[in-house]
Amino acid sequence: MATPAFSNSSRSNEGSRTGRILQTTFSVAFLLATLFTGFSPKMFSGNFGTIISGIMAPQLDGGGAAPTTLKPVRIGIVSGHWANGGDPGAVCPDGTNEHDINLTIASLVRQKLEARGYNIDLLQEFDPRLDGYQAALLLSIHNDTCDVIDAEATGFKLASSTYSRDKNLNDRLSACLYDRYGRTTGLLYRSGNITVNMTDYHAFRAIDPSTPAAIIETGFLYLDRSLLVDHPDVVADGIVAGVLCFVRSESVQPIPNP
Ligand SMILES: [Zn+2]
Repeated sequence: MATPAFSNSSRSNEGSRTGRILQTTFSVAFLLATLFTGFSPKMFSGNFGTIISGIMAPQLDGGGAAPTTLKPVRIGIVSGHWANGGDPGAVCPDGTNEHDINLTIASLVRQKLEARGYNIDLLQEFDPRLDGYQAALLLSIHNDTCDVIDAEATGFKLASSTYSRDKNLNDRLSACLYDRYGRTTGLLYRSGNITVNMTDYHAFRAIDPSTPAAIIETGFLYLDRSLLVDHPDVVADGIVAGVLCFVRSESVQPIPNP
């Protein structure tokens, strides 16, 4: 540390006053330096200690980026039946098929989320990346049959993973999708006829159990066809709203019991 440069005797009064100020300044600086050298977050207990520890913790970033850079949140979107050996999923008499509708919707979801700064993996039905997949969430997009069943062949269905480590987080993901998708599209939720293909969906078993996961059937090709085929952007908006609800921890009510 340099010594004060003020020692001119012809300006002794001013010089000594400046010296005293400097001395005080240096004393305070020395005291602060000593305090911070010996400072430990453990000096504080409870929440304040935790907060201070968090502030002082090194911000590790594997890419070696600047400490203030936040990594984009990673989200996995499976486009149902995509690249599964020509499997079209549900097919209508005129050839309109679920595979193509799923891919249109999933691609729109990807675009819309990427535009908001999220890091999206658009995944095939049996994408090798699903093994041990880690992300903020995984969502698989499918659609229901084109068969002429009855007037109830309309609406959307949801199932979430039972393999996830955190059931509450998974319930939140389902609740967000249920609420935001239903509001955006106006479709009813169909809690009946949720098959084992949904509840025990293969990707749920493949991914890392720390990743919350769900599968959605966004509608029926039979009665919801005009929405799915003519307005896939609305379908995608509904999914995006559900995903954003989850990743932004927005307020949402649990799915009501049927
Ligand atoms: Zn399907």
